[in-house]
Amino acid sequence: MKTKRTRSTSAKPTRRWVVKAGSQMVCSGGPLLLRAWMSQVAQLRKQFAIEIIWVTSGAIASAAERTNFNRKNRELPEKQALSAIGQPMVMDLYNLALNATGLLGAQVLLTAGDTQDKVRRKNLQNTLEKLLEWQTVPILNENDAVATEEIRFGDNDSLSALIAQMMNAERLVILTDVEGLYDSDPRKNPRARLIHHKKDISQADLDKVAKNTTSERGTGGMYSKLLAAQNALKSGIITHLMRGDLPQNLLALASGEEIGTEIGNGQKKTAKRAHK
Ligand code: GLU
Repeated sequence: MKTKRTRSTSAKPTRRWVVKAGSQMVCSGGPLLLRAWMSQVAQLRKQFAIEIIWVTSGAIASAAERTNFNRKNRELPEKQALSAIGQPMVMDLYNLALNATGLLGAQVLLTAGDTQDKVRRKNLQNTLEKLLEWQTVPILNENDAVATEEIRFGDNDSLSALIAQMMNAERLVILTDVEGLYDSDPRKNPRARLIHHKKDISQADLDKVAKNTTSERGTGGMYSKLLAAQNALKSGIITHLMRGDLPQNLLALASGEEIGTEIGNGQKKTAKRAHK
């Protein structure tokens, strides 16, 4: 069952998606891709009544590119300092892209502790609900400057799943630089086939993909994406893995086109929390 919400300010029911963009996507796509994304965010609300919570990475990678900092074997304090330099750079790009659509962005930085502590979690929920009610676009990233390695979300895949659960989203969309999940590694096997639908993620599925893989720019990989999908599905949330750099991909998904890999059987559990 899809979650529909009705607001006092508008009779139109809304659906809610969490969309996550990784470091690689943000840095190689740059201002043009971000503009295409934000224009789709505006259209998703207008045409499909879908509201978006956007989770972005790219702070550390953006700063590393601009500061000539050695890329390999960074110490945690170095990553943290880079995140503090890069976060405003990333937010500048989003704000620029949002300006063109007439929407306002809102930066929310958080650590794993913010989603676990009861009071902070409630505060976070209230803030996000209000931002969505005001029709702004919440843009979330991990607050790497204050997170230790143990409580870091890494490239935000697990953060996006937690937010999707916490905000009772209908769908988690993870934008990546591959088409989706394949039946074998497409870099090694030219006959690898894209899996369009997957009912769930088993331990065997997780074992099949390399653990702790890193791209050139971020710490995410297929393992952390499948783990995020597995967690999201525990709350009945469907995850979609798809390429982030194809034009209009989010709108195509909203129109029901078969793109990327859909994980979950489409059965959204009844909402656990009431929305105003
Ligand atoms: N939150 C980080 C960023 O935005 C993720 C990068 C990573 O851990 O690789 O830079």
